[in-house]
Formats: sequence, structure tokens, C-alpha cells
Amino acid sequence: MLWRVEPDFGGNLNGVSRWGMNSFVSSLAAVRESMAGACLRVGRRPESVRLLAVSKTQSAAVVDQVAMAGQHIFGENRVQEARDKISLVRQSGLQWHLIGPLQRNKVKMAVQLFQMIQSVDSVELAREIDRRMPPDKIMPILLQVNVGGETQKSGLASRDLEKTLLEVARLSHLSVQGLMTVPPFTEDPQEARPFFRELAELARSMGALAIEGVSMDTLSMGMSHDFEVAIEEGATMVRVGSSLFGMRDG
Ligand SMILES: *Cc1c(COP(=O)(O)O)cnc(C)c1O
Repeated sequence: MLWRVEPDFGGNLNGVSRWGMNSFVSSLAAVRESMAGACLRVGRRPESVRLLAVSKTQSAAVVDQVAMAGQHIFGENRVQEARDKISLVRQSGLQWHLIGPLQRNKVKMAVQLFQMIQSVDSVELAREIDRRMPPDKIMPILLQVNVGGETQKSGLASRDLEKTLLEVARLSHLSVQGLMTVPPFTEDPQEARPFFRELAELARSMGALAIEGVSMDTLSMGMSHDFEVAIEEGATMVRVGSSLFGMRDG
């Protein structure tokens, strides 16, 4: 039998070149290596941080490629886009997290698509999610905190967190798992450090309240340019888009 050695690039698989496949394997490896490096610097176990691949603006074919490269958790910031994409993705067993603002009229669709909603920033939104859940199901959520206090950004003000948490904890179809934040963008990722530290401190103080049914185990913070700093400050989940997929157009 004659084996033909195929070049690593130029082939086409569902509209994505095999060059693309290889580049996802190597960009995933590079991100995971940086994550592990950050863990080791502060004496954390690399397994203590999960990677969420932010697939917004990327096609279902690209998601399939990244999934084949070994990635299982994906994040989307728009419900409609996620619905169209998820229906086309072929790989099974993937987890989808909503990381963008959720409008009331999209909640019904969102609870059918996502295994976690990271962007809950009001009691009203939490109530609507609770109301739309199937009677026998519970939605894991994170409360999004606007640690930078930027007026144009979504998220709860830090001072409103405790009050909100106490209300949300009463809803039977939600399970609070922790906190999420998007700090102000700074050229130098070190400047984001105080914001990550603040979120970690908030999680500690909320955890100390020992509210029944509330866990503070998940700290979702850190994006492509600052996830290493976020890990050094205690992130247990980083949300990485452009470092995995390349720059987005939109
Ligand atoms: C787009 C997005 C990310 C990923 O950003 P990158 O800089 O591409 O890694 C993370 N979190 C949220 C909420 C986002 O909207």
C-alpha cells in the first residue's frame, strides 16, 4: 500500500482549510501553556483554571475545528447568533455559556441554548430566567460585576452585589456559582490587576456570608490580553477569543 503524505495546508474541510485546523491546535496549546505558566507563578494548579473559547463572530465550522482540537467550552455574547451557530455545529458534548447582555425578550431562547449564563446583572433579569426555566431544571449563573464602575458597561455596582445576591439566592431555578467581570480596557494588562483583585475579594466576602445555595467557586475574568494577570489574581475561568481565533472583524 502506498501512503501519500498530505501537506499540512491547502486542503479543505467544511470550508475551513486544514491549515486552519493546525493553527487552532497550536493557538490552543499556546494559550494553555500561558495559563499554566501563570498558575505556576502563583503556586496554583493548572487544572484549577478553565478555558472558555469566545466564538462570537466565528462560524460553526470554526467551532467544530476548535472542538476537534480539544476545546469543549464556548462563549457567545449574542443569543440570536448563538442559536444559528449551535444548530450548525456538528461536534457533540460542547458547553455553551452566555457572556453578553441578555434582553428580557431573549431569555426564553437563552435558557434553551446555554448551560451557563455569566451576564446576570439585575434581580429583574434573574427573576425572568427563573420564570422561563423548565420546572425540573436549574440554570447555573454568574453575577456580572462592573468593577471599573464605567457608566457605559453592564454589570452590577460592587456596592449592590450583596443585596442582589440575597434576592437571587431565593430563586429556585437558578444556582449562583460565582462572579464575572470585564474590567476597563488598559493597554498594559498590569493595570487591570486591581480590578481582578477587587472581584476576587468580592467573591471572598460574598462566600463568607455562606448564603444557602450560593457558591463563589467560579471567578470568570481575563481575556486575550490580560488573562495571565487575571489567573495570578485568582481567575478560575478565562474567556479567550482573539488569541485563539485571530482578530475579529466585528
Ligand atoms: C469578546 C469577549 C471576550 C474575549 O475577548 P478577546 O479579547 O477576543 O479574548 C471575553 N469576554 C467577553 C464578555 C467578551 O465579550
